[in-house]
Amino acid sequence: KRKNIPDAQTLISKICEGNTTALSQSITLAESTAARHQLVAQEILTGCLPYANKSLRIGITGVPGVGKSTFIEALGKYLISLNKKIAVLAIDPSSSISHGSILGDKTRMNDLSTNSQAFIRPSAAGDSLGGVARKTKEAIILCEAAGYEIILIETVGVGQSETAVHAMTDFFLLLKLAGAGDELQGIKRGIMEMADLLVINKADGENKTAAQFAASAFTKALHLYPVKESEWSPVVKRCSAINNEGISEIWKSISAYCALVNSNGYFENNRKKQNAYWLKTTIENTLKDTFYSNPQIKEALPQLLAELNEGTTTPFQAAQELLKKHNSKN
Ligand code: GDP
Repeated sequence: KRKNIPDAQTLISKICEGNTTALSQSITLAESTAARHQLVAQEILTGCLPYANKSLRIGITGVPGVGKSTFIEALGKYLISLNKKIAVLAIDPSSSISHGSILGDKTRMNDLSTNSQAFIRPSAAGDSLGGVARKTKEAIILCEAAGYEIILIETVGVGQSETAVHAMTDFFLLLKLAGAGDELQGIKRGIMEMADLLVINKADGENKTAAQFAASAFTKALHLYPVKESEWSPVVKRCSAINNEGISEIWKSISAYCALVNSNGYFENNRKKQNAYWLKTTIENTLKDTFYSNPQIKEALPQLLAELNEGTTTPFQAAQELLKKHNSKN
């Protein structure tokens, strides 16, 4: 027997009262691929939209082991001490590939997960980064409607997930370790440019001096990048997440950034741009999916690739032929 789905209006009003059960249920509905769940989820999202948007969205990334969950726990507890409600979401594309997760889950952030001011949601699963990203975007809206003022979105430095997180956050924080090269840290080109704040974690014990050196090296490196559209000059900070050291300094930087981008209009403009980006990305992904899952295309593609290898057709001719096949079906 099918489980009853609570009706959308009930869930909307409960979410807006800050009810976390309703919030979790609604995120689950949004994550579901079942058509009837999607129908309810879209109604909930539309209903929540007027109450969303009033938050600060912070993206946090770094390689496995850099201390992301320890850091989020430290920052989260600090923000709660400032009387803020925080939500933690994750984009973990590895879960869709390996059905395991690089980010790990449940056992992380023990203190935060039991705090009533914090809402923690493990990464959505999905077949594609696009799908996972969309679900996270929707979860952000629902969390904001539920009154969470700061949304921390975590990802790990693999593939394109940083780009996705960067495109849905207001502030981008990159965690690093002292004494390891970028290659060792798995940091892809382009990630440094996205960062508004670089945090050297584990700046404690024997690591202290190395962290100091790393901080000045990174500060110099950051000066080589072009000025950001936000007019913000990225900064480098050190911290020891495990000892709760350096967290308030980090929050000061984030607050300074907010003050700047609120006054120069970048904050609002950037969110509008991000919305346009997601609209286009969704269309592109959907078109791509329907194209490649079209049985006629599936059938014709290998043959055309073979002809291409033999040199009897050109990439453009082959593409035209496939597009014609696809369009004639639609
Ligand atoms: P994640 O994979 O990026 O989420 O990293 P974790 O938060 O799970 O941390 C990886 C390991 O580094 C754990 O053993 C942590 O205890 C340790 N760790 C995290 N932050 C610090 C820190 O500030 N100093 C030290 N010395 N160890 C830390």
